[in-house]
Amino acid sequence: MSHSRLARSGGGSTSAETVIVVGAGIVGASVAYHAARAGAVVTLVDAGRPGAGVTANSFAWIGASGVRTGPAAALRATATQEYRRIEAELPGLPVTWSGSLSWGAADTAPEAGPGQEILDAATVATIEPTLRQPPEWAVWAPDDGSVDPVGVTERLVAGARAHGARIHPDTPVTAIRRDAAGRVAGVETAGGPLPGTTVVLAAGVATAALSAPLGVRVPVEPSPATLFRFRAPAGLVRTVVNNPDFDLRQVTAEQLVAAADSPDRTLAAVRSTFRGATNVELLSSRVGVRPMPVDGEPIIGPVAEVPGLYVAVLHSAVTLAPAVGRLVARELVDGAAEPMLAGCRLDRF
Ligand SMILES: Cc1cc2nc3c(=O)[nH]c(=O)nc-3n(C[C@H](O)[C@H](O)[C@H](O)COP(=O)(O)OP(=O)(O)OC[C@H]3O[C@@H](n4cnc5c(N)ncnc54)[C@H](O)[C@@H]3O)c2cc1C
Repeated sequence: MSHSRLARSGGGSTSAETVIVVGAGIVGASVAYHAARAGAVVTLVDAGRPGAGVTANSFAWIGASGVRTGPAAALRATATQEYRRIEAELPGLPVTWSGSLSWGAADTAPEAGPGQEILDAATVATIEPTLRQPPEWAVWAPDDGSVDPVGVTERLVAGARAHGARIHPDTPVTAIRRDAAGRVAGVETAGGPLPGTTVVLAAGVATAALSAPLGVRVPVEPSPATLFRFRAPAGLVRTVVNNPDFDLRQVTAEQLVAAADSPDRTLAAVRSTFRGATNVELLSSRVGVRPMPVDGEPIIGPVAEVPGLYVAVLHSAVTLAPAVGRLVARELVDGAAEPMLAGCRLDRF
């Protein structure tokens, strides 16, 4: 696979050569930032505010370890390094490097995957000292972290703008425009047409509806998940804790967030898991609709039937956004096919 190299900004390019990124969630913001930084002329369009889609309700664990197979495994293995890179490029990026601690119900030691170590109960107790009863075994991923997902998205958008990208919030895209030869010519929006030779659909769950009128099926389904916010004492939880009851982490001195099923069960589990948690209270429940490709793997790459159309839709996108943004930008700007994205193409369906 290859596609044409784009004109770079400052090199006599025109608005007609613009890359239009549809969707300013963490994926589209990362694509826009990396493409603008690589020299493309970029327009980023969102129906609302950057980061206000599912990204706003993400648990936002940089889960760099633990996935061993499938196309996303190699991307995931680079997640920590890619976040460290964008932290250096974008000072003040809201990332916390706490490590993650996971355990299940098994009473035998699990196997450590890449980037993981197996800890016994005594060591677990030194990492999470308020645990009432540390598990016999836990998987420790010291390089994992978490982010403020809206803060990261906003910082990527600001970075894109600093590299010359034009940003259009509150501008729903209603259709993708094509020229007489069938090539992408831009988008129609509620505020009028925007010209461009490449359109990147990074619209999360809306990607399928935007591509369907072109006869392109992007098999991504809405997958709701709930984020709970609790009031909690400072220092109750130090790492990202993942067990059969919840994914849990401290977001401020007084607040925890949890990705879990039921508020009552989660509250009871938090109270029984940690000492000093009896006063933990539920503050809010928010459902986010995750874009879930039907086989669970990312869908990233140009759409062969529609020259100029490119798709970037994936789950676990907080973890993968820096890597995906950088690789997509290279494909868009240099016209090369990135080997790390080879397993992610739409034509596998
Ligand atoms: C409870 C929960 C926990 C999660 N935990 C994690 C985790 O720990 N780690 C992890 O990596 N991932 C996690 N995820 C998943 C992660 O949040 C998503 O994979 C990620 O946010 C998807 O980003 P996105 O940019 O693709 O989508 P979105 O953030 O939804 O962005 C898409 C954007 O497209 C815009 N848009 C849609 N239609 C149009 C249109 N017609 N015109 C213009 N703009 C349009 C929307 O307004 C939106 O801003 C979690 C999700 C949830 C809900």
